[in-house]
Amino acid sequence: MKILVVNAGSSSLKYQLFDMETETVLAKGLCERIGIDGALTHKRSGKPDYKCTDALPDHKAAIELVLKTLIDKELGVIKSVDEISAVGHRFAHGGEKLRASAVLGADEIAYLESIVELNPLHGPPAISGFKACKEVMPSINHVGVFDTSYYSDMEEKAYIYPIPYELYEQYRIRRYGFHGTSHRYVAGKAAELLGNKNAKIITCHLGNGSSITATVNGKAIDTSMGFTPQDGVPMGTRSGAIDPTVVTYIQKAKGISAEEADTILNKQSGLLGVSGISSDCRDVATAAEGGNKRAKLALDILVHNAKKIVGSYVAEMNGVDALVFTAGIGENDRELRAEICRDMSWLGIEMDEKANATCPRGEIADVTANGGKTKVFVIPTNEEYMIALDTLNLTK
Ligand code: ADP
Repeated sequence: MKILVVNAGSSSLKYQLFDMETETVLAKGLCERIGIDGALTHKRSGKPDYKCTDALPDHKAAIELVLKTLIDKELGVIKSVDEISAVGHRFAHGGEKLRASAVLGADEIAYLESIVELNPLHGPPAISGFKACKEVMPSINHVGVFDTSYYSDMEEKAYIYPIPYELYEQYRIRRYGFHGTSHRYVAGKAAELLGNKNAKIITCHLGNGSSITATVNGKAIDTSMGFTPQDGVPMGTRSGAIDPTVVTYIQKAKGISAEEADTILNKQSGLLGVSGISSDCRDVATAAEGGNKRAKLALDILVHNAKKIVGSYVAEMNGVDALVFTAGIGENDRELRAEICRDMSWLGIEMDEKANATCPRGEIADVTANGGKTKVFVIPTNEEYMIALDTLNLTK
């Protein structure tokens, strides 16, 4: 069975075509500058990338170009669009009702449209992407996979904020959690490696956006992102958790609007805000190595906060069987992984720093110190595969 995975953003559409019999990616790519001019990059293994700049006025034009490329005699990997059995769509937010991946019908789309206020950046383009794909491929299943649904089983005490309860009832203000598809994938792999479905696992998805999740018995019990992806660990340009009063104080002190304060905390904070250099961890690390104090401080704050969250989850779960690192920073930045694990032996977390420094990139690695009570793994994430798998399971 061939499954197409689509991740639509406001001006972009990423795709991967999976052959689920062989569990391989036949082709993948990215449409960019949708609604501006248009650019497609199409990749197949062993062949040079194909780029084209056909006009892409909207998401429908983008998906039509993707399908045309996938069946093209020279560039394509399938003979006909009919070979695609189903499409899996990534949604950042499934609200409180879409608690698991689901075949998208009129009810699901009406609900997703009703919650765009909770998710103004990702919701509308993801819905447009779905509608465009449905129009072009009307007779097959379209499945929605929601980043939030992994957190559907969290207890109220983990998701209700200690603010007037009416704000939850009226505006659905609560912790939702994000990156769930990534945490579900790597926590599942870690449980497999441990041979224990009931394991207590902490997964650190550290990338441009970062979150840390605690999983017990295959279910997330807590996570660092909250009502929005702004909470938790400091990120590339987002502050992560801060005293909420800082927001209103900045507004008053600078005489700025709520939107402007939001921009400061979302786009000008985190690694970029503290270092003043870059939101990219590699640039910040290079500057820190070169003696830049604020770059070093930005990384120290990231490590300090990640350690605090990991420690709090060990306390919540009364132990931890595995600590997992994933995503751009988690998979690649050996120094940061080592810093986070340093001086955690009292909690049972001990890393073999040599194994950590030499483990190959892009592969699963066990970097636990000899005798370490808690396994420390590096596990490359694969959200697209998880979306394809859910789509397959709901289509079979
Ligand atoms: P996104 O959240 O956009 O998917 P990624 O998971 O790709 O982001 O992570 C991007 C982050 O990963 C950047 O801060 C980048 O510097 C970092 N990163 C990527 N490769 C490396 C590397 N080899 N060493 C250190 N950091 C890396």
